Amino acid sequence: MAAAIIDGKAFAARLRARVAAAVPAFADAAGRVPGLAVVLVGDDPASAVYVRAKARMTAEAGMAGFEHRLPAATDQAALLDLVRRLNADPAVDGILVQLPLPGHVDEAAVIAAIDPAKDVDGFTPENAGRLATGLPGFVPCTPLGCLMLLKDRLGDLAGLDAVVIGRSNIVGKPMARLLLAESCTVTVAHSRTRDLPAAIGRADIVVAAVGRPAMVQAAWLKPGATVIDVGINRIDAGDGRTMLVGDVDPAAADVAGAITPVPGGVGPMTIAVLLRNTLVAAHRRAGIPLADATL
Ligand code: NDP
Repeated sequence: MAAAIIDGKAFAARLRARVAAAVPAFADAAGRVPGLAVVLVGDDPASAVYVRAKARMTAEAGMAGFEHRLPAATDQAALLDLVRRLNADPAVDGILVQLPLPGHVDEAAVIAAIDPAKDVDGFTPENAGRLATGLPGFVPCTPLGCLMLLKDRLGDLAGLDAVVIGRSNIVGKPMARLLLAESCTVTVAHSRTRDLPAAIGRADIVVAAVGRPAMVQAAWLKPGATVIDVGINRIDAGDGRTMLVGDVDPAAADVAGAITPVPGGVGPMTIAVLLRNTLVAAHRRAGIPLADATL
């Protein structure tokens, strides 16, 4: 039987609408709308596309957006100075530094300079440590979006076997920690994993975050598994154009119980969760409880 398609695009639109619906009550109580600052260094075309989409959706949610575009040659000291100014700016609730940064900049140092209370990307060591130790904080947007889709589809995840393929700080590791917190039995696979098909074959949940087109084969999956494909790979479509494909072979839809498409699955969740995290940051900073506790 063909897998159910998990419609991340529709889920993300609903989440953005819930965030937008919560903004007026915050504005009434705080006397201002939540604010998100986005820092873009250089002119990487993919990053520019993301930043434009973030600006548009921030405005659509009724929030204030502050965009800082800096030339590729910007040095570390100037970038750290901007982060410190945003940390001190009362109108800014969330700070997002678009990655990757140019090679001459120490990315880890810039991320670590962000005030953890405004770290809506959840990348600071403070928030990574909070997630690892089960304390409240901010969780990276893409894995939190994946978890929302999984819980929406499966309900209680306790006891399920989960495989996360990839161990980056922005997707794989936080994803594994979130699934562990939901009481899944979690395997984290990576480029040195000896028998990836065997690990995947045991899994009720497969999250692929690798960056290799169609590397997860349909035959490896346990029939009925729920598959979350985080991969965004641009490949030659054969007619001179490029197309977007995930990390999972499309034939997996014949074996899985449910699967996210690429595009239209995990991708749209990231910005929706970013806006959700910014709304939460604004409430926490202002000491105002969120009216919709399920957000
Ligand atoms: P990274 O390149 O940082 O990490 C890739 C991971 O895959 C590494 O842990 C690597 O292992 C592992 N890996 C590489 N080759 C293999 C292999 N043959 N078998 C098993 N594991 C392997 O990527 P990211 O985590 O940043 O992103 C992963 C994918 O998700 C990309 O396609 C990216 O575009 C996409 N993405 C999508 C987002 C969205 O939807 N909004 C947001 C962020 C990312 P090792 O650690 O050993 O090198």
